[in-house]
Amino acid sequence: MAYESVNPATGETVKKYPDLSDAQVKEAIDRTFDVFQKDWGKRSIEDRSKILHKAAEIFRSDIDKYARLMTLEMGKRIEEARGEVKLSADILDYYAKNGSTFLAPQKVEEKPGAVVKAFPLGLILAIEPWNFPYYQLARIAGPYLVAGNALLVKHSSSVPQCAHAFEEVLEQAGVPKGAYTNLDASPAQVSSLIEDSRVRGVTVTGSASVGAELAAKAGKMWKKSVMELGGSDAFIVLEGVDIDDKLIEQAVYGRLFNAGQVCCAAKRFIIVGKKQAEIFTEKLKARFESLKIGDPFDEKTTLAPLSSIAARDQVVAQVEKAVSNGATLVCGGKALKRPGAFMEAGILTDISRDNPAYFEEFFGPIAQIYSVESEAKAIELANDSPYGLGGAVFAKDIEHGCKVAEQIETGMVSVNKPLWTAPELPFGGVKHSGYGRELSHFGIQEFINWKLIDASAAE
Ligand code: NAD
Repeated sequence: MAYESVNPATGETVKKYPDLSDAQVKEAIDRTFDVFQKDWGKRSIEDRSKILHKAAEIFRSDIDKYARLMTLEMGKRIEEARGEVKLSADILDYYAKNGSTFLAPQKVEEKPGAVVKAFPLGLILAIEPWNFPYYQLARIAGPYLVAGNALLVKHSSSVPQCAHAFEEVLEQAGVPKGAYTNLDASPAQVSSLIEDSRVRGVTVTGSASVGAELAAKAGKMWKKSVMELGGSDAFIVLEGVDIDDKLIEQAVYGRLFNAGQVCCAAKRFIIVGKKQAEIFTEKLKARFESLKIGDPFDEKTTLAPLSSIAARDQVVAQVEKAVSNGATLVCGGKALKRPGAFMEAGILTDISRDNPAYFEEFFGPIAQIYSVESEAKAIELANDSPYGLGGAVFAKDIEHGCKVAEQIETGMVSVNKPLWTAPELPFGGVKHSGYGRELSHFGIQEFINWKLIDASAAE
């Protein structure tokens, strides 16, 4: 598996990393097991938290340096990249600040003398995607390291510089060598790690198909797993909502952040009312056509390239397949004839249920727009998806919006704003979007052995 940085804005290969040998993988897991048993797993939560605070400080002290690496490797707009570095630091800080409260021993009121205490599970294997190169790592490193677990991390092969930089920051902050190890590992080496009895948990963020494959392997080995997988979130606009500039900007943000490569992006716009849907489509088209496509390092760029030529070609092929199955391409959706992974933002309408596009995740700047006659139909359509990650509901009355949100079969729904993430908000889905949660107090619980020590009086 070739780990290399290729600049998606130019197609130029910037840096290559050698393949790991099986002996290096073995050496890494031996070291991780040793450091977990003798050192990291035994330290106090306060000690580990101080180190994570320090890592957050290091990220904040040189935001531009870390941001530029992401923009270089996967084409994220530089402004978004700076935001991601700050958010990643916030996540590390959040767990450093709150970890001891989240994992405090719990007495059992009805049984004086019985207590439930949090212990780390041990070695956790993490498999991560390229779309948020640091944020994804912060979501696992923050909670699991504070809890005392040790991490073996296989990041995406397209963001190795970010992966190595993250590991270096943790080491610089004082995480002992081996407690967090980046491995440029192959799928076969990942499988061997899942099979190793010292690995106690597996967490995967990625596509539904890869998640299903790795969840099955983990399950076969009796390993607890967390799956943070793909999504095709609905963005529902109910009757009576003004299709004004603010709403359109929220739709643009929800769909096009990170060039549309976000698991919980708004991918299916479901508009109640034919006239409303027409106005929405017209206005969104005008905004999509006004975007400035270009170099992600240029602050004036509003639509960056996709993460790679292959990723771009996949989205363009999906658009073509959708059209050949009867959808209407209202605008855009085509590759730009220039070097790099650039494409136009596009809009698809008239997507019938027998069109493959209806059930697919579009991981790029493509908005699907559906017009429905009633709120009930909007909810039905939103839920008629294999995915169940997030969603957004826009309503004139916020309480009513919340009632509709309750009926959407996903792990997260925002009301009157596009869905977004924060350290204190739980993240995760249902159905093919996976299971388990990251972030918030829920996230830190996933790889904990809540052990009962029962010294209450015998009955
Ligand atoms: P992907 O599934 O192709 O890859 C994810 C990771 O798995 C990468 O590190 C990849 O190298 C690795 N991988 C792939 N095949 C493997 C195998 N057979 N054995 C071991 N490892 C393997 O996904 P991607 O293209 O990197 O990311 C995009 C997908 O991730 C989208 O579907 C997106 O919605 C999803 N995603 C989900 C979340 C979430 O929190 N739910 C967050 C970000 C991205």
